[in-house]
Amino acid sequence: MELLDGKLVKKEMLDSLKKELESIERPLGLVVIQIGNDEASNVYVKQKEKMANDLGMNFKHIMLHENVKQEKVLKEIDKLNKDDNIDGILVQMPIPKHLDAQIIQNRINYLKDVDGLTDINAGNLVHKKDGLVPCTPEGIIELLKYYNIDISGKNVTIIGRSDLVGKPLASLMTNNDATVTLCHSKTKNLNIYTENADILVVAVGKAKLIKKNQIKDNAIVIDVGINRQDDGKLCGDVDFEDVKEKTAYITPVPGGVGQMTVACLAKNTYKAYKLRKKING
Ligand code: NAD
Repeated sequence: MELLDGKLVKKEMLDSLKKELESIERPLGLVVIQIGNDEASNVYVKQKEKMANDLGMNFKHIMLHENVKQEKVLKEIDKLNKDDNIDGILVQMPIPKHLDAQIIQNRINYLKDVDGLTDINAGNLVHKKDGLVPCTPEGIIELLKYYNIDISGKNVTIIGRSDLVGKPLASLMTNNDATVTLCHSKTKNLNIYTENADILVVAVGKAKLIKKNQIKDNAIVIDVGINRQDDGKLCGDVDFEDVKEKTAYITPVPGGVGQMTVACLAKNTYKAYKLRKKING
């Protein structure tokens, strides 16, 4: 078993990005809009802020009240869309139920959509065109590539079909020539698909859901889940201690995919800057 060390790969990615950013004419601008005071979101936004500060970006955290009207959120996004010094805009998920996430996400200029959730960027991904790709799936591909794990021809099973993780990852894996199975809460006989997986990705949000009897020998296991246990510690959707000896590679939680998500947000912000420059001059 070898650990896929997201912390190490993130550091290397950010160190090299920092050098590239020294040569551009102004600091990158990244804005996170947070709606309500979700405890997990507070932690994620802090990690993003730290990354942005470490890279010398201008970071803005806009906090909106949990009862905010949709019109106000859209107006905030319109302002940021018009601001030439803002390269990336991200609405931290989840947002309160009275708001329409798709309308809000699609209001973001697709060239500033660093979470890759607008219909335009989602379409670009499916059609294998250049664009901005959601950070977590992109981070998973980066991590596999860093460890020289070939994706082409592999059986990849993904559990979880969210717009943020499972669905875009299925497209990315397909674009990298994997044979992809996308499972979800209505999948019957989940074990058939997990046992067949050369690469198993679990993005469900249920602590220690996957056990060693469900994976094949020498599987590559990517654990996206972040769950808080009763003792306050974090754990993934995979029972790490139970499965680790049966795997060829496995991501730890914390220290795996979450780190790569932050690294890819930095990468996407720079890419957004370059895309806008190419199109708008
Ligand atoms: P989501 O709630 O939007 O989707 C969960 C998916 O799991 C759904 O598609 C559902 O059908 C499926 N599912 C639920 N129960 C299942 C079961 N018993 N068997 C099979 N499938 C089942 O979640 P999400 O936003 O994709 O996040 C999933 C997990 O990943 C959460 O723990 C979240 O905190 C974590 N996450 C981590 C990162 C990161 O950077 N590491 C990023 C995003 C999300």
